[in-house]
Amino acid sequence: MDLGISGKTALVCASSKGLGRGCAEALAEAGVHLILNGRGAEALEATAVEIRAAHGVDVKAVAADITSDAGRAQVLEAAGQVDILVTNAGGPPPGSWSDWDRDNFINALDANMLTPIALMKSQLPGMMDRGWGRVVNITSQSVKAPIAALGLSNSARAGLTGYVAGTARQVANKGVTINNILPGAHYTDRIDMLDNNAAASSGKTMEEVRAAKYATIPVGRYGTKEEFGAMCAFLCSQYAGYIVGQNILLDGGGVNTTM
Ligand code: NAP
Repeated sequence: MDLGISGKTALVCASSKGLGRGCAEALAEAGVHLILNGRGAEALEATAVEIRAAHGVDVKAVAADITSDAGRAQVLEAAGQVDILVTNAGGPPPGSWSDWDRDNFINALDANMLTPIALMKSQLPGMMDRGWGRVVNITSQSVKAPIAALGLSNSARAGLTGYVAGTARQVANKGVTINNILPGAHYTDRIDMLDNNAAASSGKTMEEVRAAKYATIPVGRYGTKEEFGAMCAFLCSQYAGYIVGQNILLDGGGVNTTM
């Protein structure tokens, strides 16, 4: 399917690995030029080389912490005005509600709420002036169904979701859509870290932890970054102009709700 976005430019944050990389690859396959970002220069450069070679699109790579003011300024300067913005950053660490203090919450809000808001504020005016734009925020299944150990994530992402719900409806008449994708468990470094933590704290093996988690997902496995990226690319396509302010859950059926 031709998504109708060949030749456009996308800034995909936190995209050297994992779900961000899945989005970058799917957009590149649709002919979109990319600005990639991650903190570690080596993995980022390797990803840029592979995507350029596979898809023949222009790829700029900016090694910077997207959650810091200085890092974000560096990325935005290199990116300039883009047609497509995918916001993403690492998730907050797991823990317990009784341990988190103000600083823990401020860090989580900075990374997973205020950073995507700052990125949107920087790009939305240009998209509106040009009459076309797509924003996809990578959030989490925890917005719909809280994950106890990820209370910092539950809180920050709920705040971002509220902001998007209001903002998406104020920019839609200029041809700009904003939507969120809510990942359930996907095979990435992040889920390896969470499952390793669960194994260490429960005395179970990684295989036992995985088997127990698969049993809670109707599909019986985790999702892949390719499945995730394909949804992102569709939301960025010409065909998604009527999808506004939505929260698309990609979770293999794990969240047991009617809507
Ligand atoms: P991942 O496999 O750990 O990959 C994270 C990517 O983001 C890497 O490229 C990493 O590169 C980059 N990154 C992390 N922090 C960054 C920062 N401050 N600035 C710039 N780049 C940064 O993670 P993932 O599984 O793809 O998760 C992506 C997001 O989805 C996270 O917020 C996570 O909480 C959320 N999520 C994931 C799952 C899942 O099952 N995978 C489920 C629900 C929610 P560097 O480390 O080199 O910076």
